[in-house]
Amino acid sequence: MHVVSRVKNNPEYAYPDNDIYLLPVAGMDIILEETELFYEMTTVLHRHAERVANVYNWKVLPVSTNIRHHLTDDCRLSWSEHTHISALASVANALAKGFDCVYVGSTVQVNYLRPFGTSLTLDYLWGGDINLFNIGSECFRLDKIREMSAHSELIENIRCCFMYATVNPPNCGRCHKCLWTLCTLEAVNKRHLTSAIFPPIGYDELCALVTKVKINFDWYMIPEWKVVEAALTENPEKEKLAKAIHHAVNKAKTRRFWRKIKSIPAVKSLSLKIQMLLSKTRQSWHKIKSIPALRSLSLKIQLCLSKRKRDKFMSAEH
Ligand SMILES: [Zn+2]
Repeated sequence: MHVVSRVKNNPEYAYPDNDIYLLPVAGMDIILEETELFYEMTTVLHRHAERVANVYNWKVLPVSTNIRHHLTDDCRLSWSEHTHISALASVANALAKGFDCVYVGSTVQVNYLRPFGTSLTLDYLWGGDINLFNIGSECFRLDKIREMSAHSELIENIRCCFMYATVNPPNCGRCHKCLWTLCTLEAVNKRHLTSAIFPPIGYDELCALVTKVKINFDWYMIPEWKVVEAALTENPEKEKLAKAIHHAVNKAKTRRFWRKIKSIPAVKSLSLKIQMLLSKTRQSWHKIKSIPALRSLSLKIQLCLSKRKRDKFMSAEH
């Protein structure tokens, strides 16, 4: 969702009455589709935009576009790294005849800028005939939600989820973006305002989900999660959630470490050799296990192990 403002004094244009419009764009995070589910999702998105716009006496200008399909499917370009801002700017430029400026939200906090999503330093170059501004780059998501927390109409209408599966509630509550937002809402003590837009998730369940979350795009997401963890640590009642985030961040750091190690050419070739060796070992075991006598022996061993595992689990349960 983006904001356009300061309507030009252009009598030919159809939107002369209001200063500020909210611009929910269907077909960006989720590719435009001619399906019932997509139509329902878009309707819900517009409804939430309307609720916010009504409070501020703004209007909603819904947009649909198939540009993401063209860029990512037809041209095989990366949405996050190559095309995100150009697609947003295409919508902005389509409105240039009637509007002065468009504001797009920042993707990344300014200290972690890379060619990814929107960019404080480059977005204005995409403006063309309209002024295009990137807003919020000085903030982490925690700061943005803390700022929003004084306005319940904003918190109650958050839609952060990019999963193509959920309409009501509009956020799945399971993907990494939903969990990141839910933890941030916990940190500012506003999660209770979002019961209508997320599925019911208890505090302990949230901790368990966060422990398992895979933090994508770790170079900017780890700092984002760390600031949420720091904010939760200040509240002794939220210690369990802070620990869950700590665990997830450590897993992401370990993954990053191994990725770096594996990118060293010598290690990469060694890793390939190890993989080939393992694969040969697997093939050998496969051949050995195909001998009938050994296969029946292997089955017996497996049954024995599985029984031992079950006994251990049962004794742990009691
Ligand atoms: Zn989600």
